[in-house]
Amino acid sequence: MNYFPATYAPSDQPPRDVPKVRQCLRCQATFDSEWAGERICSRCKSTAAWRMGVPQQTRPVSRRR
Ligand SMILES: [Zn+2]
Repeated sequence: MNYFPATYAPSDQPPRDVPKVRQCLRCQATFDSEWAGERICSRCKSTAAWRMGVPQQTRPVSRRR
């Protein structure tokens, strides 16, 4: 028979990847982070400052005919 210990506390492995209200490192605003590593709110991510590290390759090149 499958005996499952009901007295076993599931708190042995605390889940970290849980939605939690955190504070943004940029705007210091509280936001709902999807996981533990989420430190930047979605609002700041959409800003240009967040895209500093990302090279803009979508530059409109001058078309030649
Ligand atoms: Zn923010």
